[in-house]
Amino acid sequence: MSQAVSEFVPADLDASEWANIEPLLRALLGRSVESAADFERWIVDRSELDAAISEATALLYIGMTCDTENESRQKAYASFIENVAPKVKPLAFELDKMHARLSERFDLGERYFVLNRDTSADVELFREENIPLQTEVEKLSTEYQAIIGAMTVTFDGQEKTLPQMGVYQESTDRDEREHAWNVVSERRLQDSEKISSIFDQMVTRRDAMGRNAGFGGYVGYTFKGMRRFDYTPELCFAFHDAIEKHVMPFVARLDERRRSQLGLESLRPWDLGVDPKGRGPLRPFEGGVDLVSKTQRVFDRMSPELAGMFETLGDGSNTSGADGGASLDLDSRMGKAPGGYQYMRDRSRRAFIFMNAAGQHRDVETMVHEAGHAFHSMYCVDEPLVHYRESPIEFAEVASMTMELLTMPCWGEYYPDGEDLGRARRQQMEGSLSLLPWIATIDAFQHWLYTNPAHSREQRAGAWLGLEERFGVQGHRVDWTGLESARPLVWQRQGHLFGNPFYYIEYGIAQLGALGLWLKSLEEGQDAALSAYKRALSLGGSRPLPELFAAADLPFDFGDSTVARLVERVEAELEKLPE
Ligand SMILES: [Zn+2]
Repeated sequence: MSQAVSEFVPADLDASEWANIEPLLRALLGRSVESAADFERWIVDRSELDAAISEATALLYIGMTCDTENESRQKAYASFIENVAPKVKPLAFELDKMHARLSERFDLGERYFVLNRDTSADVELFREENIPLQTEVEKLSTEYQAIIGAMTVTFDGQEKTLPQMGVYQESTDRDEREHAWNVVSERRLQDSEKISSIFDQMVTRRDAMGRNAGFGGYVGYTFKGMRRFDYTPELCFAFHDAIEKHVMPFVARLDERRRSQLGLESLRPWDLGVDPKGRGPLRPFEGGVDLVSKTQRVFDRMSPELAGMFETLGDGSNTSGADGGASLDLDSRMGKAPGGYQYMRDRSRRAFIFMNAAGQHRDVETMVHEAGHAFHSMYCVDEPLVHYRESPIEFAEVASMTMELLTMPCWGEYYPDGEDLGRARRQQMEGSLSLLPWIATIDAFQHWLYTNPAHSREQRAGAWLGLEERFGVQGHRVDWTGLESARPLVWQRQGHLFGNPFYYIEYGIAQLGALGLWLKSLEEGQDAALSAYKRALSLGGSRPLPELFAAADLPFDFGDSTVARLVERVEAELEKLPE
C-alpha cells in the first residue's frame, strides 16, 4: 500500500463531537476525485475518519459499561447515540453512493474487491420507502425488549429477574428446579400474546421491505443485506440436514447418559442444567488478576507469539479502560453492565476486553474466547483500511471459538486436579456440538417464517413443534407432559428473532471452522494449527469468506461430510476422557 497513512484526520481529533466531524465528512463529499490515485487516497482518508468515529464510540461505550452508575458517562454515551450517530448516518450513506460511483470509474484491482462489493450492496438495497418500515420495526424491537426486560418473578420471597433465575436450573434439588422452571414459564406466558402480536407485525414489515427492494420476499433481501455473498439458503438447508443426521444421534447419547446418571425415568425441561453427578461448580480461579496470570501461563505454554500478544493487554490490575489506558476489565462488581465483549479501539488500534468474571468455568471460556478476538485484531493491526481490520462474523467467531478448543491441553493451569480438568474438557467438547441443533432450529424456523410470511399463529406453532421434533431440542428427548401451552412458544425467548433476524447460523458455521482447526492440532500438531490460524487471521476482512477459510486450511463447507467427520472425532476424543 502506497497510501497507508492518512494526514486528513488530525491526530488529536475529538470525534465524539459533531462539530468536529461534520466538516471532515463534508470535505470528503465535496472532494474532487479525478484519478485512481485520488480515489485510493479518498478511501484511506475516509477509513481513518471512520476509525476515529468508531474509537470515540468505543471509548464512550467502554466508559459507560464499566460504570453504569456514573451519570455523566451514561449521558455522554446516550447523547452521542441520540445526537451524533443519526447525523453521521445520512452523510455516510452519501459517501457510500460516492464510493459506488467512483468504483465504476476507477479500477483499483483485487485489493478493493471486498470493500467495493460491500459498499455497492448497501447502496443497491436502499429504498426510500423502507425507511419508515425500518423505523417501525426498530420500535417494535424496543417494545419487545421492554416487555422482556420488565419480566420479574417472586421466588424464595424475593423479586428476581429471569436471568437471575437461571442459576436455579443448576440446583441439585429437583423440586426446586421444577418450581423455578414453572414460575419462569408462567411469567413468560402472561406476555406471550403481546409478543406474538409484535412478531406478526415484524414479519409483515420485513417481508414488505424485501419486496420493495425487488426481491420475492425477505430472505433474498436480507442475505444480501447481511453480505452473505458466498452461501445460499440451500447451503443452510444442507447444514440443517447434516445436524439432524450426525449431531442428533450424538446428543441423544448424551441425554441418555444424563438420564441414567440422574437416575430418572425421563428427562423433564428442568433436568438439563444440573451436573448429572451432583457435583458442585468448578472453581478455576479467584479474581480477575488470578484469571489473567493463569491465562498468561496457558498462552506461554502454547506459543511465545500468542503469549506476547496477550501480555500487551496487561495483568488485569488496572481497570480504568476508557481514559486510563487499560485493556482489561474483568471482575464482576456493582455498577458494571452484564455480559462480556472485546472492543477494538480502531484509531489507536488497542484491544479492550470486558467481562463479569465470578470465578466460574464459563469465565475461563469467555477469557480465552475474547482473547481470540483480540488476537484477530492484533494480527491485522497493520491493515490501513478499518473495514478490513474486521472480518465477517462467520469467520470472526472462528478466531475466538478456536481458542476455547486449542487452549484445552493447557487447562491444567486452571485445574491442577485431574478430575476437575477432565470434567472441564468434557463440558467444552460436548458443548461445542450440542449447541448446533439449537442453531439449526432457529435458522430453519426463520427460513420457514419468511418464506411463508402470511402464516397464522397456529401454523407458526406447528412449524416450531415440527422443528423441535426434528432437532430434538427440548423435544422428543424431553418429556413435556402437562406443559403443552408453553412448548409451542419457546421461540419467544430467542431475542435474535426479534432484533437480529437471520443472525444465528454464523455461530454454527464458525463452530465447525473452530472444530476443524482443533482437529488439525490433533492430527498435525498445535504449531501447524496455530500457523494456519495466524495466516487466516492476518487477512482480517480483506478477502471473501471462502478465502479466509482456505487460508486456515478449512473447507468452506457446512454440510454432510464436514459435520460427519467432526462429530466422529469429538466422540473419539471424549472416549479418552474419564467419565
Ligand atoms: Zn465472540
